[in-house]
Amino acid sequence: MSVSSSTPLSSRCDLTQGGRTLRRSLRCQGIGLHSGQKSEVQLHPLAPGQGRRLQRRDLPGSDPLRLSPEVVQPSPLCTQLAQGEVSAQTVEHLLAALAARGITDVLIDLDGPEVPILDGSARDWIEAIDAVGVTPGHCPEAVPTPLAEPIWIQDGEAFVAALPAPQLRLSYGIDFAAAAIGQQWHTWTPVREDFAQEIAPARTFGLAHEVESLRSRGLIRGGCLDNALVCDGDHWLNPPLRFANEPVRHKILDLVGDLSLLGRIPVAHILAYKASHRLHGRLAQCLRSRGYA
Ligand SMILES: [Zn+2]
Repeated sequence: MSVSSSTPLSSRCDLTQGGRTLRRSLRCQGIGLHSGQKSEVQLHPLAPGQGRRLQRRDLPGSDPLRLSPEVVQPSPLCTQLAQGEVSAQTVEHLLAALAARGITDVLIDLDGPEVPILDGSARDWIEAIDAVGVTPGHCPEAVPTPLAEPIWIQDGEAFVAALPAPQLRLSYGIDFAAAAIGQQWHTWTPVREDFAQEIAPARTFGLAHEVESLRSRGLIRGGCLDNALVCDGDHWLNPPLRFANEPVRHKILDLVGDLSLLGRIPVAHILAYKASHRLHGRLAQCLRSRGYA
């Protein structure tokens, strides 16, 4: 897949505005991280106001799922959506790429239970979207919604928070005993730094000593050194890293994907520390319950 050089820089702000769809359909194939099975995703443009929907081609006659924070199901190590018969696992990197390009009207057509992991990042999704292009936006009246009051959700020492701020900013902290990761903090400001360069290439990561126990629980069957960074104490099994702090950038990628279930992310400083998909989802649901969507 090639990257279109005509991608507008205005797309940098689309996390808070949305209103776009694809210019034409695209398809992408790969292996599911947890299922280990081959799957194909087709993305199709939808008319303005149709929202983001997901259908399972292998479940003919089932109603498409409409993406929202309410359809998130608890699932270890990934974001799973489920409504009625239709479910989909490991959607977060695809959703982050769609949100970063302001795509709020799209049909995700999946031929199995899991979205392919590709290289463990959102880079291939962004390249595929940019190759077909996005519409200039059909909601010029849509203005970003500023957050009015702080929200703080704590779980032990982990937390997610949203604070009023003049522009969208996402800050993330992680702290691992493994010396190769250690403590990392990173802030991404979408209006200044393009998702495609700063966040999309950051790959998912794991710890070598956890691989066998995760596999014995039926997880990461499709995981390999080509689709996840694997840390073994003070070194990585598959260097080089794309960024010195690639792990924390990947956590921001996951956070963008999970918050994108709101449709549009409110203008706020979003903070997360040692958080998980579950905490990201709780923040999305809390924002939704207060009318931000
Ligand atoms: Zn991820």
